[in-house]
Amino acid sequence: EAFNAKVAAADQLNAFLVKTPDHALAAADAADAARAAGETLKPLAGVPIGMKDLFATKGVATTAASKILEGFVPPYESTVSQNLWNAGAGMLGKLNLDQFAMGSSNETSAFGNVISPWRRPNDTAPLAPGGSSGGSSTAVSAGLAPGATGTDTGGSIRQPAAFTGISGIKPTYGRCSRWGTIAFASSLDQAGPMARDVRDCAIMLEAMAGFDAKDATSLKLDVPNWEAALSVDLKGKKVGVPKEYRVDGMPAEIEALWQQGIVWLRDAGAEIVEVSLPHTKYALPAYYIIAPAEASSNLARYDGVRYGLRDLPEGAGLQDMYAATRAAGFGDEVKRRILIGTYVLSAGFYDAYYTQAQKVRTLIARDFERAFEQCDVLLTPTAPSAAFALGEKQADPLAMYLNDVFTVPASLAGLPAMSVPGGLDKDGLPLGLQIIGKPLDEQGVLNASLAIE
Ligand code: GLN
Repeated sequence: EAFNAKVAAADQLNAFLVKTPDHALAAADAADAARAAGETLKPLAGVPIGMKDLFATKGVATTAASKILEGFVPPYESTVSQNLWNAGAGMLGKLNLDQFAMGSSNETSAFGNVISPWRRPNDTAPLAPGGSSGGSSTAVSAGLAPGATGTDTGGSIRQPAAFTGISGIKPTYGRCSRWGTIAFASSLDQAGPMARDVRDCAIMLEAMAGFDAKDATSLKLDVPNWEAALSVDLKGKKVGVPKEYRVDGMPAEIEALWQQGIVWLRDAGAEIVEVSLPHTKYALPAYYIIAPAEASSNLARYDGVRYGLRDLPEGAGLQDMYAATRAAGFGDEVKRRILIGTYVLSAGFYDAYYTQAQKVRTLIARDFERAFEQCDVLLTPTAPSAAFALGEKQADPLAMYLNDVFTVPASLAGLPAMSVPGGLDKDGLPLGLQIIGKPLDEQGVLNASLAIE
């Protein structure tokens, strides 16, 4: 009831697209009943969480913050959300996001941007909550929910967590089922938790992850008990600091944050080693070819026939209906990605762009493999800046894409990566540190993050 009341009183943040107070209350009632009956409580018994509106929820409107899905009520539940309900959690509502998870500021939502609960002192300019999981970051940061789901294709869990002073982990690609999660770039998309601290993330991730026969890329592995094995003792562990992440124009305070992170990890017993990831600078351009290519293919299903919106002008034929529906339904950023994606996949340019980007992706994965011969985890900043003001980068897509420079390499390599609060900038805004781990080593990522927290 307390969380439902907070959600109801925070409309000015625009974090929720749909509120489902009864869903949250039903989970709380079930937990009470289980306790009264002397049953063992489920791991998330009665815990109310926010659900990014990219997860299909049975009987609850799901739009991916796009007009093209307006009115779509899924007749099925995503595996990740079902796993959370099976663990006893309840849903406070569906959280706003960048349209189809494409963006870094939540400004591409068709239903208005989310406003970060943070402000610069003596400055009324509203700040971006990060993206695409901006509703999730804001709901947790503002105390509207103890945890929220996110998805991360190129940084959408980690960057918003960093911007709002919370924690979030993208597990190894394949840990969480993608079934029922609206697709953006299928070879990159991964679900993960966003919460107040590392321990809460570990608990939530245990509930979300697991093999699912309905997703062909789901990993057939048991879910470890990450929470039970949490430890801040890093003795015998090596932390790599990749020199290529020291990018031109990086603010001094980001460099200082990074140095502070090194000190904390050394204090926890880790040995620090410098490593090289030579192809880092090609990660961002490769990502912005591969992700739009996959998006252009995935978004072909929104044709006005099967889901949500249909724009059928008088006397129009099928092609006209497709065109009218897509023109009215997709936002500008989504259209930009579809155009880039179809271009790089076109017969004349496929080899020059798409094939080349895939080769670069392999080189980036190999960079990480080599670096992990010398260390257990990597430490980097999560983003090159603190939260920027809403509107600041909206007119310049390239400036917006550059914000993802530190998060996309781990996505291209499918590696687990977490953002944890590392400190504040000169204005008191949160800054995040990123820990990247070996495939399936969520434990190493969580433990190093815990040592920073
Ligand atoms: N900001 C990146 C993009 O716009 C990543 C988004 C994401 O991880 N979903 O593609």
